[in-house]
Amino acid sequence: MNQKLDFNGVNAIEFHKRFPDDTACYEYLSKAKWAGNDFECKKCGHTKFCDGKKPYSRRCLRCKYDESPTAGTAFDKVKFPLLLAFHILFKICVRKKGLSTLELSKEFGLRQKTCWSFKWKIQQVMRSSGQYPLTGEVHVDECMIGGPEDQKRGRSRGEKKLVIVALEIVKDGVGRAYADVIQDFSAKSSRPFFEKYISKTALVKTDEWTGYKPLSKDYPCLEQLPSASGKGSPSIHIHIMNIKGWLRGIHHHCSKDYLQGYLDEYHFRFNRRNNEGVLFNTLIKRMVANSATRLNSRKERDV
Ligand SMILES: [Zn+2]
Repeated sequence: MNQKLDFNGVNAIEFHKRFPDDTACYEYLSKAKWAGNDFECKKCGHTKFCDGKKPYSRRCLRCKYDESPTAGTAFDKVKFPLLLAFHILFKICVRKKGLSTLELSKEFGLRQKTCWSFKWKIQQVMRSSGQYPLTGEVHVDECMIGGPEDQKRGRSRGEKKLVIVALEIVKDGVGRAYADVIQDFSAKSSRPFFEKYISKTALVKTDEWTGYKPLSKDYPCLEQLPSASGKGSPSIHIHIMNIKGWLRGIHHHCSKDYLQGYLDEYHFRFNRRNNEGVLFNTLIKRMVANSATRLNSRKERDV
């Protein structure tokens, strides 16, 4: 992606100048999607094209298929103007804690259901690919999130979802973190999370839950410590409290079916908290790289 497509550290004034209308957004997507003359027709695979009818679209010279810059990206079939979609993305990135769908709906004059659907796509592209697993000292803990306030203690599930959290401990405090909804606290359920997010050489510290024991084969540096009222690892307990506080404070309620999306959104932002300028750039590149059809569509629901 060339420099013109980079938005590291762009502020609101620059952003509004750069994207004054839909055309500017189509132009951006066109450049991001087809670098120069890079084109391959989605229908027939032909690589020669001319300008299409719609702004910045490309028309296949063999089968005449007219491909829009949004086709094959997460912006495909979005029910409102592209300019609004870009502005929603930008707003979600510059607001320190993001926005609820109710706030988005008020600010952009869209139905809340429409905002839910679009936000769900955004949350899915925010999910980490697991390319950079946590290293060094990593604390792992589990908790229950969702439903009415935390009445239930221990590992009894109730209306909540089980969540496993991993947090890197670094010299000056905490590093990156990830969290996934899991079915139960067996080694079988937590193993994919470990494999995706934690380096095999990490010094992993967990509580004494027996579900972690079988994992020590693959994680030779795994240590199980007594959790004694959270004194063993205050940082991860603070982290979990912050996730819960964010869900309550910004989103008020989050259906347990969609909790994973919120965990991904929280950590997308958390892991870039010292480099917030990259948020929009990273997000828009991922929106271009992800086909809308590959993302699970969120069925519209009463909110
Ligand atoms: Zn074609």
